Amino acid sequence: MTGKIHFIGAGPGDPELITVRGRRLIDEADVIIYAGSLVNPAVLDGRKPSAVVHNSAYMDLDAVIGVVKEATDKGLAVVRVHTGDPSIYGAIREQMDRLDALGIGYEVVPGVSSFLAAAAVLKKEYTLPDVSQTVILTRMEGRTPMPPKEKLVDLARHNCTMAIFLSIGFIEELCSTLIEGGYDPKTPAAVVYKATWPDEKVIRGDLTDIAGKVKGKNVEKTALTVVGGFLGDEYGLSKLYDKRFTTGYRKGTEE
Ligand code: SAH
Repeated sequence: MTGKIHFIGAGPGDPELITVRGRRLIDEADVIIYAGSLVNPAVLDGRKPSAVVHNSAYMDLDAVIGVVKEATDKGLAVVRVHTGDPSIYGAIREQMDRLDALGIGYEVVPGVSSFLAAAAVLKKEYTLPDVSQTVILTRMEGRTPMPPKEKLVDLARHNCTMAIFLSIGFIEELCSTLIEGGYDPKTPAAVVYKATWPDEKVIRGDLTDIAGKVKGKNVEKTALTVVGGFLGDEYGLSKLYDKRFTTGYRKGTEE
C-alpha cells in the first residue's frame, strides 16, 4: 500500500492557529517534514514519539521528494508542514508536480496566512467600504525577480490595501517605491513582526517614517508590511448591516 502525503498550512505561529484537520494529521503522522525557518516547532508537540522529523530548511527539493517517496513507498503517513498557508510563497507547486510525476497522492490542508494574522493583530479590516475593496499580496524584487508586469511601482498605482511579504530588509526602498508609484506619502503603514508568536512586535507609522521606526528594533525576518487607508479611521459603513438596506435575509426600513 502506498502512503499518502498531506501538505499542511501550520498558520502564522501560535500553535492554536492551525486547523483541526492539520493538527490531527500531524499528530497521526509517521514522517514530518517542516519548514523550520518559519514554522513554530510547537505545532509538532502532539506528534507520535516514533514520528521522524525532518527540517526542510536544510534540504533541497530533491531531498524533500526523496524522503516523501521512501516513506510513502513503505505505506507511511507523511505530512509536509508549511508556514501560514502553503499557497502563498510556499513553493508547494513544484513539490506537487514532482509527486504527480511519481504517482504519489497528496492533499492540501489550508492554513491561516500571516497576512490574515496581521489583520487580526492590528484589529483592522483590509476591505473597508470607500477606502479599498482590493488586497494585493506581493513582495519586493530581491534575489528572485518579479514578473515584468508586477513591479511594485506599477501595483502602487491602485492605492489599495497591500500586504508585502519577504521584504522587510528593503523597507526603505519599499516605501519610496510605493510613494513613487502613487501612494500619498502620509498613507498609513504597519509592520507586524512574528504575528501571533510570543515575541510579536507591531510598529505603526506612515510611508515617510515607518522605515526609520523599524530600524534598531531587531525586525529583520518574519515580518510583514501592510499599507493603505484601511489603517486609518475614515470609511463608509457597510451596506450589509445598514438598516435601510434590504438583503436576501432582511428587509430594510426604507428603500
Ligand atoms: N506561506 C506563508 C508565507 C511564506 S513567505 C504565509 O501564508 O504566511 C515568508 C514571509 O511570510 C516572511 O518573510 C514574512 O513576510 C511573512 N510571514 C510569515 N509568518 C509571519 C508572521 N508570523 N508574522 C509576520 N510575517 C510573517
